[in-house]
Amino acid sequence: MHVIDAHCDTLLAIRENKEDMQFTQEKVKMLGMTYLQFFAMFCHPTLLSQDNGFNKSVNLLNDMLTLYQKMTLKYSYNKILFKEDILAFEKKQKDDNPSVFSLLSIEGVYLAKSDLSYIDFLYDHEVRCLSFTWNPSNEFASGVNQDSCKGLSSLGRKAVQKCNNLGILVDVSHANDQTFYDIAQTANKPFVATHSNSRHVCPHKRNLDDDMLKILAKKGGLAGVNYFSDFLVAKEENRVAEVDDVIKHIEYMSSLIGTKHIGLGSDFDGIDKSAIKDVTKVPNIINALLKLNYKEEDVKDICSKNMIRVLKEVLNEG
Ligand SMILES: [Zn+2]
Repeated sequence: MHVIDAHCDTLLAIRENKEDMQFTQEKVKMLGMTYLQFFAMFCHPTLLSQDNGFNKSVNLLNDMLTLYQKMTLKYSYNKILFKEDILAFEKKQKDDNPSVFSLLSIEGVYLAKSDLSYIDFLYDHEVRCLSFTWNPSNEFASGVNQDSCKGLSSLGRKAVQKCNNLGILVDVSHANDQTFYDIAQTANKPFVATHSNSRHVCPHKRNLDDDMLKILAKKGGLAGVNYFSDFLVAKEENRVAEVDDVIKHIEYMSSLIGTKHIGLGSDFDGIDKSAIKDVTKVPNIINALLKLNYKEEDVKDICSKNMIRVLKEVLNEG
């Protein structure tokens, strides 16, 4: 089975020499699956407010760009840049050597300040999936930490159009509710929440409520189910989530919007309490769904085909 994981923080974890990584080349190889991993670049917005914070953040971004190039070269990852690349991923047969594909993404465009051409810079450096904010707001959009009715700025609206034209997938995972609705109104291509769950099942602002999930589906996008405990089980339950909790979110979303608008977004190497130990345990989700009598086709949709559909619609030809 092909698997696409729409979010991990592995690049930053490598940069910080983190131990016990959840996604590594050795681990993904053990799976023996054709696997597409989205690798997110993330500079914490608080770094910007430190002395010389802007330069420190630029250096960090450059380090992650370099790391991505080194890693993809070293392990011969197939980079997803254009429509033909996702078609190549789709066409990989079971008997072919299993291989790893990669897509570079970014969480937050704080370094742009208010310069729209930063999006071009990211595109030129192979970024193909982008969220305007992490949790705090910026000149483009309001993040989940902002409860107000502010959403996308006029600059943010232009940026959505720019992403649609360039062939960059827009990600709403860290957007506040108003930003979500503004993106839904502005985007003329499907958009996704790369790593967010159902707010009905777990009331957390990083998750999507029923209305948002319905809109996401109507626009042709998907929500990538996140394995982070805090987004899977309510705080009051005071426990670490398990695979069954991931399944609960998939079950609820399936009943609400069907299986065509659900994906996977592990958040590997960015979270401390994970329902899935590491990438080698992803088959546990697949097996749990099959045990629940999900048709193999539905499981394939969730694991990769839905995101393939979205990327085919969003990416341009090279
Ligand atoms: Zn995130």
